Amino acid sequence: NKIKKGLEKTRKQFVKNVERVVIGYAQIDDDFLDDLEAVMLTGDLGVRTTEYLMKEIRRGVTEGIINNTGDVMPFMEARIAEMLGAQEEELTLHNPEVILVVGVNGVGKTTTIAKLAHYYKEEGKSVILAAADTFRAAASEQLTIWAERAGVPIVKHKEGADPAAVVFDALASAKAKQVDVVIIDTAGRLHTKTNLMEELKKIGRVADKQVPGAPHQTLLVLDGTTGQNAVSQAKLFGQAVPVNGIVVTKLDGTAKGGVVISIKEELGVPVRWIGVGEGMDDLRPFNAKDFTNALFA
Ligand code: GDP
Repeated sequence: NKIKKGLEKTRKQFVKNVERVVIGYAQIDDDFLDDLEAVMLTGDLGVRTTEYLMKEIRRGVTEGIINNTGDVMPFMEARIAEMLGAQEEELTLHNPEVILVVGVNGVGKTTTIAKLAHYYKEEGKSVILAAADTFRAAASEQLTIWAERAGVPIVKHKEGADPAAVVFDALASAKAKQVDVVIIDTAGRLHTKTNLMEELKKIGRVADKQVPGAPHQTLLVLDGTTGQNAVSQAKLFGQAVPVNGIVVTKLDGTAKGGVVISIKEELGVPVRWIGVGEGMDDLRPFNAKDFTNALFA
């Protein structure tokens, strides 16, 4: 199971640390609860999620659901599964579904787009990519290579071209050819936030004109190896763009996978996909049950 393997480092560190605390105490007392809280915070669960879980655990103790330290782990697992499950919603794709992908350079945006394209293709859908990061020539070149690997067409213009024009052409082509899914790459330069905001707004206007309601999804790609820093980055990004889905990449390379649990709580935006490796098949739709099972397995 890819998700299980992808979460191995987080499982080995975070879950084992919780276990260590549980084993280390004969009974539930303040020291036990303090230790548990510290483990959650160092496990990148974030302040809000940790506070919520601690409150729940205290409630569990008061209500007699948790009677000894051994009851804590299954209780935590159930609460986390519940929290994550509450953020799940089935998406029905529009025709075409227009997906705008945003995120700073290096987080895994290009590969995520390729993996998404591959995923939808495997589902029997037709896909087209729009190389709307015209700021760096390398971005469009990289995306072209990945488009070839995924076996999907790409619309691109020359370096420095208007990103919105790329989107216009991609959507025109998608409509003409009745393509199911359009995935748009965008520039990832957060330091020029106002420009990026204007650029993304213009892309949004052009997209909506071609396909009313588009973009249907704005997915923010975050690097899971940066843990809670990814959450801070998302907050900054959220000020520039209305994000309605999160992709957390590189979970296979980090013990900071707890960050996935905290995202909805911290950002109010659901995690839609998780990246658990470099291969085409290593982007998985986020599923609360699979995630929790893999984490606590
Ligand atoms: P971009 O600059 O955001 O477009 O980043 P890229 O898509 O080029 O990815 C940067 C690096 O991260 C590449 O070496 C990818 O193979 C790697 N990467 C992306 N997603 C994952 C993942 O889920 N797991 C691992 N291990 N590596 C990943």
